[in-house]
Amino acid sequence: LQPQVDLCFQNHFAKLGAPFFTTLHPSPIKKPYLIAVSAPMLKKFEINNAHTNSAEFIDVFCGNRVHPTSTPLAAVYSGHQFGIWAGQLGDGRAILLGDFNSVGEADQEQQRHEIQLKGAGMTPYSRMGDGRAVLRSSVREFLCSEAMAGLGIPTSRALCIIGSDQYTIREMPEKTAVVTRTAPSFIRFGSFEHWYYNDKPEQLQQLADFVIQHHYPHLQDLTNPYQGLLKEVVLITAELVALWQTVGFMHGVLNTDNMSILGLTLDYGPFGFMEGFDPAHICNHSDTQGRYSYQMQPRIGQWNCHALAQALLPLIGDIELTQAALSCYREHYETYYANKLSQKFGLQETMPGDQDLFAEYLDLMAATQTDFTLAFRNLSQVTIEPSAQENALRDLFIDREKLDLWLLSYRQRLQQENSIDAERQARMNQINPKYVLRNYLAQQAIEKAEQKDFSEINKLLKILENPFSEQDEFSSYAQLPPDWAAKLSVSCSS
Ligand code: AMP
Ligand code: MG
Ligand code: MG
Repeated sequence: LQPQVDLCFQNHFAKLGAPFFTTLHPSPIKKPYLIAVSAPMLKKFEINNAHTNSAEFIDVFCGNRVHPTSTPLAAVYSGHQFGIWAGQLGDGRAILLGDFNSVGEADQEQQRHEIQLKGAGMTPYSRMGDGRAVLRSSVREFLCSEAMAGLGIPTSRALCIIGSDQYTIREMPEKTAVVTRTAPSFIRFGSFEHWYYNDKPEQLQQLADFVIQHHYPHLQDLTNPYQGLLKEVVLITAELVALWQTVGFMHGVLNTDNMSILGLTLDYGPFGFMEGFDPAHICNHSDTQGRYSYQMQPRIGQWNCHALAQALLPLIGDIELTQAALSCYREHYETYYANKLSQKFGLQETMPGDQDLFAEYLDLMAATQTDFTLAFRNLSQVTIEPSAQENALRDLFIDREKLDLWLLSYRQRLQQENSIDAERQARMNQINPKYVLRNYLAQQAIEKAEQKDFSEINKLLKILENPFSEQDEFSSYAQLPPDWAAKLSVSCSS
């Protein structure tokens, strides 16, 4: 059969050679159907929208047909899970088809993107798993990848989601789906740990050289490129976690095997967006200790960097250089986070007392579990001269007296830098999203999808593509979650 869709895979990862992966074919699924496609991703790869309903597109991206240019493979890696060395893991249900070059004017990087099928069947690394992903978790990954991109947060992306009425057994039988996800690389901290803990210095170096050559070429000329690599990953990881904190995103399973060497949000599972603000909130129902709670994420990011540093130590060859790279985390996190927070409050200058002012607002939010997204979005309604405009903000808080006291200091602070209402509002609405992927929104889309109605997925996809714009016609999607949403829980079962 001649391919109809103009796809051409390359496979740069495969150049690493045999010990890094196993080549294999995806396992077919029964009667696949297209659930949704991401329009920006189609554009990125110049895939004609008219092709996406073709049998070939569907078959290639559910794993039923191996494209002639693709060499499918599953990569090996290891990792620390919940702080404990877990040994060998690997792509247990993700299969790499190869990579595409992206095109398009806006895409500065003009880079390669690896294409993976998640849920495409068993691999030698599936351990006790079935290699599948259920519709529920696939819809969540598909939507959240694109939502995070809309928020401007580094993330793996999702090209499409394909479903099947074939059942996969979790707590109960659920429909099966395959998500096509993309990233310049899916190499993880755990990929390095794998070779370190298996005492394979040659492979460790080969992997580091590969990552530097393809993703950090500017490090090649350093005296110690491996220290350069560690330092850069430490910095981008600190930034990534800071960005999560500013939108209230909780990953849920920050094991070292889920940490991208490119600082991307990776492996969407029991993630969540903060609603009623509780710094100790745990979004993963299986995380009984709260290791991956909202407030722990910055420390866990650092912990994971330590695990990476341990693995890179033999290459860096010097404990002090390694520690020097690691020590950048904390300060960089704090500066970066403080700066973002200052922007969220609409400030353009830094003044003593700012951090206290921010902390007081967060404390007010926490005291009555105010909705995180709305508490920031509605803050832009505050004007130098008090007005009825800010009622939507005041309505979010129970203790109005305390809020009013805080607003008094906030207004004073705004005046100190001669802040102009309209300009500040415009800036704030570019950093405080109106729309995030609330659990209940995802749930509604999932329930419709179970009935083969994909309209809600497509609607959400469209709204979350521009989370900062008002989109008045969709304002109900920015509202507080309904009461039934409190009962939703997400776990590692996916
Ligand atoms: P996670 O914490 O979801 O990123 O997964 C941890 C490890 O378990 C990875 O190696 C996954 O590939 C593997 N895994 C998770 N779910 C499955 C599944 N249903 N089948 C096979 N492997 C899985
Ligand atoms: Mg994972
Ligand atoms: Mg996973």
